[in-house]
Amino acid sequence: MKPWVLGLTGGIGSGKTAVANQFANLGVHVVDADEAARWVVEPGRPALRQIAEHFGDAVLLPEGGLDRAALRERVFANTAERQWLESLLHPMIRAEVAQHLAAATSPYAIMVSPLLIETGQYRQVERVLVVDVPDTLQVVRTAARDQATEEQVRAIIQVQARREERLRHADDVLVNDRDLAWLKSEVERLHRFYLTLRGGQE
Ligand code: ATP
Repeated sequence: MKPWVLGLTGGIGSGKTAVANQFANLGVHVVDADEAARWVVEPGRPALRQIAEHFGDAVLLPEGGLDRAALRERVFANTAERQWLESLLHPMIRAEVAQHLAAATSPYAIMVSPLLIETGQYRQVERVLVVDVPDTLQVVRTAARDQATEEQVRAIIQVQARREERLRHADDVLVNDRDLAWLKSEVERLHRFYLTLRGGQE
């Protein structure tokens, strides 16, 4: 039977990866939308050829891979170019994610996406789990992980969906404000619950 899909989201540094890894340890198939976004522009994939045709070979590395920094520079301050790129990549990323989810053999599969709410991807999943942390903890953990300043992290938080907006779309919330042992026990609790659901519904 086709697995139902749980969308996993949360703000930057909320613990999505840590939570996803725990589910994966329990045998749940996990697909990360950010990873899919990297796979679709690998050498040999049609997206890379179209990007090079559009922006020129200057966005390619000497070995033929995508020069992300060069591409970022071209779309950073140019809305039209950014929209062109997004309209090329988004359907490809969606297809890539769907293909991986369809291949899952676990009773349910997880799609991790930092922008699940912002991009409307939440409409394509049966259920939404939000990893939630107080802003202060989010800033401290992310700054430590990325060796970034707290101001830089706060700037990213500003452009993401507001915490309240994310929580409004949540079916389940994992409050990740304790240690990793607590996170693990919360994931185990949710997993036991998810195994009782048919099609993601109670
Ligand atoms: P991003 O959106 O930036 O990819 P994320 O939501 O995937 O972030 P993680 O990378 O999983 O977040 O977590 C952020 C940092 O906080 C990591 O260094 C992680 O190890 C740490 N962390 C996550 N949960 C906990 C916890 N319960 N206790 C201590 N540290 C934690």
